[in-house]
Amino acid sequence: MWLYGSVGKKLGFLISSVLIAIFVLTAFWFDDFAHRNLEKLMLQQARVLYQQLVITRSWNAAFGGVYVRKTPGVVTNKYLDKVGPGHGMPGTVIPEITDKQGHVYTLKNPALMTRELSELTANNADFRFHMTSLKAINPGNIPDDFEKRSLQQFETGLKETSEFGRDNEKHYFRFMAPLYVEHSCLACHGFQGYKVGDVRGGICLTLPMNTELELLNTSRLQFLAGAGILLVLVLTAIILGSRYLVTRPLHLLQQFASSMGQPQQVSEALLARSDEVGLLAKELNDANATLLAQRDTILQGTQQPFPDNNTDELTGLYNRHYLFSEGARLYERWRRDGVGIAVLLIDIDHFKLVNDKFGHLVGDDVLVAVTQILKTQCRPYDLVARYGGEEFLVLLEASSYGSGNSSAQRILQSISEHVFQSGVIELRITVSIGVVEGSSLGDLDSTLCKADEALTRAKESGRNRIVAHSDDMS
Ligand code: GH3
Ligand code: MG
Ligand code: MG
Repeated sequence: MWLYGSVGKKLGFLISSVLIAIFVLTAFWFDDFAHRNLEKLMLQQARVLYQQLVITRSWNAAFGGVYVRKTPGVVTNKYLDKVGPGHGMPGTVIPEITDKQGHVYTLKNPALMTRELSELTANNADFRFHMTSLKAINPGNIPDDFEKRSLQQFETGLKETSEFGRDNEKHYFRFMAPLYVEHSCLACHGFQGYKVGDVRGGICLTLPMNTELELLNTSRLQFLAGAGILLVLVLTAIILGSRYLVTRPLHLLQQFASSMGQPQQVSEALLARSDEVGLLAKELNDANATLLAQRDTILQGTQQPFPDNNTDELTGLYNRHYLFSEGARLYERWRRDGVGIAVLLIDIDHFKLVNDKFGHLVGDDVLVAVTQILKTQCRPYDLVARYGGEEFLVLLEASSYGSGNSSAQRILQSISEHVFQSGVIELRITVSIGVVEGSSLGDLDSTLCKADEALTRAKESGRNRIVAHSDDMS
């Protein structure tokens, strides 16, 4: 469902809907506007033609009709006998006259003239017009439905009527306006009971409008094409703009937020923005940095060595307690498995002098430094413990006889070559090491005793040396 889609899709849907609605409404409005204008244009044309006809008729009527020479083809209006103010009375319309030379002239009254002009127009022009009346004398002037309706409306005061029509493929515009009875009309139509100002009939004009409709369709297509292209351009701009401005930044920030607590950085482009997205990017970036700092603080706190039962506080090495519990269990397992074991008891020579000469703190630093050397020289699975004040013990698995001694050699050499530093003080020390090794040793206590005896022997014999325990010692 679109409500659960991305912001970009929702925005795109909303904006597209609004723009398409505007497009459709504008298209309808344009169509209506164009049709209204076309109607005005057609009305204007029709009014001009109608006025022209009325003026021509008035000219003719002003003379009570005009006589034209009756040449071959010119016929006399047979309805003239039926008109006149006093039918059959003196003053009645005279259809024909003859001059002194015997030439015959026939009367062209307004009605006849109009009808003949109508026929001429039908044969020679694009438009047509028809003179009609509800009381037509000439059957050719009888009104059709539109004309009859219009004539009835004119009698109620309407000044003009019009309609669009279609005859097969031909579109046309019909216009009709009334002909009012003037004084000159009564010479012929007085007998019909007309008064000046009455609606005598009307002229109906039929104007072709295929060309106008073609123009309208062309402009409609141009408008739709132009508006359509504009719509596509605007929608494309909105879609691309919203993707660049909203959707993609939000997607990046969502990814950033989902990895909060990781070392990461919001892109520079987002941070550089001064809008809401830029502000959100800065907030998230800062929040992540704060989170990382807090996590580091917490981690540092948890990584601080804290005193426990098994660890020596100063050096972090295992203490005697651990040696005689876990160390003893390890020793017993190796012994049971018949593994070669070596125990190294290491004692710093004349350590008291270090304390006396440089102070206890320097002594502590030396103990810590010795611890580091022991860790470096021993394997991760060897057990290194602080056995006493300045005494260390290494319990290791001796794969072959003499490997314990070799380890002791490396330790002795590393310590004697090392320059110990504490502040500005530099000093060197040596150690003495008692070694017990073998694959069939006694329990841990007895082995430690032996190691101690070997160490004592190393001290007694001059220090800075290794003495391996031998059976003749005890
Ligand atoms: P030897 O060569 O015979 O071993 O002589 P030594 O001076 O090293 O041995 P002794 O046992 O006489 O002195 C050990 C000194 O170690 C005494 C004590 O103050 C010092 N010591 C023990 N534990 C610590 C400690 O944690 N820190 C410091 N700075 N000194 C310690
Ligand atoms: Mg000692
Ligand atoms: Mg000592």
